[in-house]
Order: sequence, then structure tokens, then C-alpha cells
Amino acid sequence: MRLGLTHMGSIDVAVRAMARELGVDLVIPPPTTQRTLSLGVKYSPETVCLPFKLQLGNMIEALELGADTLVMPGGPGPCRFGYYHKVHELILRELGYKFHMVTQDHGILYIVKCVTNGASTRKVITAFRFGIAKLNTLEEVERMVHKMRAVEWDKGEATRIYRESIKAIDNAADYGALRQAKQEYLHKLMSLPTITSPAPLKIGVTGEFFIVIDPFANMDIEIELGKLWVEVRRPTSAGEWVKLNPFIHALKLQEKDKAHRAAMPYLSRHVGGDGLQSVGEKVLHARDWDGIVHLEPFGCVPEIMARNIMLSTKEGCPVLNIIYDEHTGKAGVISRLEAFIDMLHRKKKRQVEICV
Ligand code: SF4
Repeated sequence: MRLGLTHMGSIDVAVRAMARELGVDLVIPPPTTQRTLSLGVKYSPETVCLPFKLQLGNMIEALELGADTLVMPGGPGPCRFGYYHKVHELILRELGYKFHMVTQDHGILYIVKCVTNGASTRKVITAFRFGIAKLNTLEEVERMVHKMRAVEWDKGEATRIYRESIKAIDNAADYGALRQAKQEYLHKLMSLPTITSPAPLKIGVTGEFFIVIDPFANMDIEIELGKLWVEVRRPTSAGEWVKLNPFIHALKLQEKDKAHRAAMPYLSRHVGGDGLQSVGEKVLHARDWDGIVHLEPFGCVPEIMARNIMLSTKEGCPVLNIIYDEHTGKAGVISRLEAFIDMLHRKKKRQVEICV
């Protein structure tokens, strides 16, 4: 079996670690590029959401490299994610690819057996824990990167160090090497020369999960905000997705989601995707964030609902909504960010003047 992976942020680092432990032959397609997007757009239904198209492009690139098995989770609920895998499979078969598609319809035991090379439960748990440890380490370094990008004197240094840290974390063969990589890169980041006055704005980045955590899909929004002296707060992470994945629910590793509860006065049920969480994050963080950048794939029903509810919550916090599809241009995104940040600076200055 040659298992093909699709990209989503840095999740490949964790999956690679698990595959090494379990002896799984993993086929990781090249990092997502314009070619990936073009392939996805060419063969997808026109109005389907951007994550679908990017994942389809990744699958084609993995199959081109010799993958013969694909794993695609689905999810219950009213958004398209529930039938993604079926449509992906139909399109790929029509294109003539021969492969085995493993989905949640096969049941948890079959999936685990398939993607773990039939390894023992003990080995699976060991591999899973090490993969999660890598994701947690990446997230810790990432949080520091978000802080340092906002204040670094030499713009771009934190991003350069972060890219190096991803390689080091990826190469770490055991917990000791992982700890060492974490300490080394946190230290490098904290040693960067900084400009700390005025204090940076704190902006939350929320929205549909895939767009939020995948830098290609969101056009490096976190880097662009850092260039504008903004500290990004992003509660969503790849690690959280792994814990919330329906496959993992069965293992009872799910954590309570505070954002879902916070959203309840405005949206009392799950609307698919991450709509409930987007609303909840605004309610939860209205006091500690200066603004929110809400990311939405074009046509994403859960985020359309969230966007409209977020406008009217009594917990006030300015929201900039950005909609992504294959026609979105980076220059347009940057212009909107600049205007939003400018507006927030003026608002903050006015508040200070009123207080004085
Ligand atoms: S949450 Fe939105 S973008 Fe994601 S799969 Fe569902 S409809 Fe598509």
C-alpha cells in the first residue's frame, strides 16, 4: 500500500512521524502550488468550495507520484464536507486513476488497520502520541512566531526561523530531539531585536478551518498581518482538528470547546464546518482582541451564517471578512488588511484620547 496524503498547514509533519513509526509507505505530494490549484479547479464542479479544489489537486499530484490509497475523512452535518470523499472519488475514477479510497463509511476499525499497516494497538498509540507531540511543538513555536512577527525589527526574520524550525521538528527522531528543537527555536525567536512601542494590535484570525490553517489557501495572511505590526491570535490549529476529528471522537480524546458554548445565545445548533466556532470566538474574545479577520471560502454556507451573526452580537469587536476562491488576488487581500488595520489604529487612538 502507498498511502497518499493531502496537505493542510503543517499536518504532514505529524503524519510523516506516525508513518515512520508504523512503517507506512507514505506519498506526500509536493507543497501546494498554483499547479495544484489549477488541477483542482479544472476537474471540480465550479461552485464547490476552495478546500475541495485544493484537496483534489493534492490527490491528483499524490496519485501521479504513485499513491494507490487515499484517505479522506468526511463529517456529519449540513456542509459539503460530508460528501467530499464521494465526489473526489467519482472525479478521480473518471480521470482514470486506479486507487483504493478509505473513508469513514468503512468504519473506524478498518480505517485504523488500513492506515497503520496492521500494527499493534500499542504501536499505534505510541506513533499517534509522537505525531501529536510534534504538532504541539509546532504550535508552541508558531505562537511565539505570531508574537515576534509583530515586533521584530528586521521584518521577515521570524518567518525565516519558523521555516527552519519546521524542518528541525520534522527531522526530530525522538522526544529528546523534539524538546531540543523546541528550545533552540524558541530561544532564537526570543533573541530577535524588537521594536515594542507602540504596543502591537492583537487580531484574531477565525473562520473555516482549512483556510485558516493553510498558508497557501489564505495567501499567508499571518505573515502579511505581521508585516503590518499585528500580533495574530489564532485559536484554531491542526492539533485541535486531530483531536476533534470524528475518527478520534471514538477514542474519547475530544476536548470541550469553549467557543461552541459561547456561541449558543446566537446560534443554538451546529451548522456544519466551523460556523459555530467562528461566532463563539468573537463572543469569547471581543474584549481581548482589537479586531477579527474572518476567513471564508466562497460559497461556504456555515461561514456565511457565521459572518452575518458576527455582525450583530452584543459583544462588539470590528470584523473584516475575506472571501477566498481561485480568483482572489493577494494584492486585494493586502489592501483590505491595510485599510482595516489603519481603521483599528485610529479607533484605538481615539479611545486613548477620550480616556485622557
Ligand atoms: S466548511 Fe465550508 S469550505 Fe469547509 S467543506 Fe464545509 S462548505 Fe466547504
